[in-house]
Parts: sequence; structure tokens; C-alpha cells
Amino acid sequence: MIVTSTIEETRRFTSAARAAARTIGFIPTMGFLHKGHLSLIETARHAGADFIVVSIFVNPRQFGPAEDFERYPRDEAHDKTLLEAHDVDLLFLPPVSVMYPPGSTTAVSAGTVSEPLEGERRPGHFDGVATVVLKLFHIVRPDLAAFGRKDAQQCAVIDRMVRDLDVPVRLVFGETIREVDGLAMSSRNRYLSAEERALAPALYRSLCAGAEAIQRGAEDAASIATLMHTVATERPGVVVDYLALVDPETFVSPGDFNRDLLLAGAVTIGRTRLIDNIRIGRRPIPHTRGS
Ligand code: AMP
Repeated sequence: MIVTSTIEETRRFTSAARAAARTIGFIPTMGFLHKGHLSLIETARHAGADFIVVSIFVNPRQFGPAEDFERYPRDEAHDKTLLEAHDVDLLFLPPVSVMYPPGSTTAVSAGTVSEPLEGERRPGHFDGVATVVLKLFHIVRPDLAAFGRKDAQQCAVIDRMVRDLDVPVRLVFGETIREVDGLAMSSRNRYLSAEERALAPALYRSLCAGAEAIQRGAEDAASIATLMHTVATERPGVVVDYLALVDPETFVSPGDFNRDLLLAGAVTIGRTRLIDNIRIGRRPIPHTRGS
């Protein structure tokens, strides 16, 4: 596995791969890798990539001043071992000074899809994400890039950016990889104490309860939200930030229950903030009965 830390050497290797007619698949990450990240390597390969580039960069611009940038978990040596074992071709590991040299002030303004839910709670977060992802796209120039649906609003923001700014990359999205009890894998799960870890599946359980209610025919967004809230907070220690039913493209309230829907939630357990979501497909139109 090639490991680079500068833009010039990264471009040199990806240009050579392109010249050799390889299809470059790119997976941007913040490291502390788990099976969710690794599944995206397979997603990229499945989509046709045969030269896999992974970046690890804890992007300061997507963290708010009171957030966990400093304590975000890092384990470069272990990450390298995992990526080697998954036959990754190139690992780009830039320091902050390479991505944001002094004087760098230009940023991407993420579209309106970045405003609700996560965007409302984390001002500037999606602008930071869009900025770093666009920079990484310009550095790596991948044919395709893989993102996880676990961060559903991030997928929508990147998708919108790629279309709005004519970025020549194909996006592919991977399903959320979960622990056996349903908790979505996340580098931040490392923050949870044993007691907090035991509470954590409540978020996924609450989303499942909402999804089941919709599949049984519920159409009242407020009562679905109440049900999800009740399930999430069955045991004390889970603080709901939001549990919402939204349109998966716009992230605002769905106008129509017969289209795809997204149940998205964020909770805080102790000092750890967890997010998750479930997408539900269009409901079959019920057969009309003859009178
Ligand atoms: P992160 O390192 O948290 O920035 O995540 C890097 C990429 O991995 C993003 O596209 C995430 O959506 C994706 N990802 C993180 N956790 C999971 C998971 N549990 N299942 C699938 N993809 C994930």
C-alpha cells in the first residue's frame, strides 16, 4: 500500500493509475476504522473500481468549537494494518497544514439540504464537510467515491454538491453496518462506557418502531415522532436531540407518505452524540376494493 501525505505525491500516483486505465474508487474517512468504513471499499469495488484510495483526515472545519475535534479517536497504525489487509492501493494521510495552509479561507456553502436536522444543530458542519470533500476530489480525482448511508444527510449534501458544481465523479452509497444489537458502527462508539453502550441500541430501536408504525399504515408524523421518542427514552440516560420523519432528498417533512421516507435521529448518551437513520421504500398502493 502506498502511503502519501502531500497533494503532489498523491496526484502523481493517481495520475499514473489513471494513465494505466485503472478505475479509481475513493473513500474519504476520519480514521479509527471499523467494518462500516471497510464495507465501503467493497462498495467501491463492486461499482467497478480497481484502484482504491482511502483518505484519513480528521477535518477541523467540520467540528464546532464545543465539539470533539481534539479527542476524536485516532489509531493510525491499526488503520494502516486494516487497509493493507483489504488490499487498498493508496492511503492519503495529510496533516492539517497540507489541507489548510495558512491563508486558506475559501469554503463551499452547502445547499439547502444541509440546513435542517444535523445542519441546524451543528452550524457550519456541512460547509466543512463539503469543502474538504471537494478538495479531496480535486486531489485524488476519483472516477467514483463511496459514502455510507449512516450519514444520510451527508450523502444528500455531497450528492447535491456534485450535481450543483458539476464535479466529474460518480457517487455510490453503502448500507449502514451495525453491531449485532442494531447499534450503527461509528468511531464515536469508542467514547461509550459499558453502561452507556448498553443503552445505545435504543436509537435504532426507536427508528425501527417508527418504521413499523408507518408500514402498518400510520401517517401522522407527530404521533410517529412521539412513539419513537417513547421507545428511545424507555430507559433513563438517553437524551433525544431529534427523531424525525423526513423526505430523504430534501430532509424536510414529507409531503407524501407514498414516497420514500427517512426516519432520522440523534441522541446523546453521557457525552456521546449518536446519529442513525432508516430509509423506508415507497409503500405499495393498496388494492381498491370493489363495492
Ligand atoms: P467517518 O470516518 O465517520 O467520516 O466516515 C467515513 C465514511 O464511512 C462516511 O461515508 C460514513 O458515512 C461511512 N460510515 C461510517 N460509519 C458507517 C457504518 N456504520 N456503515 C456504513 N458506512 C459508515
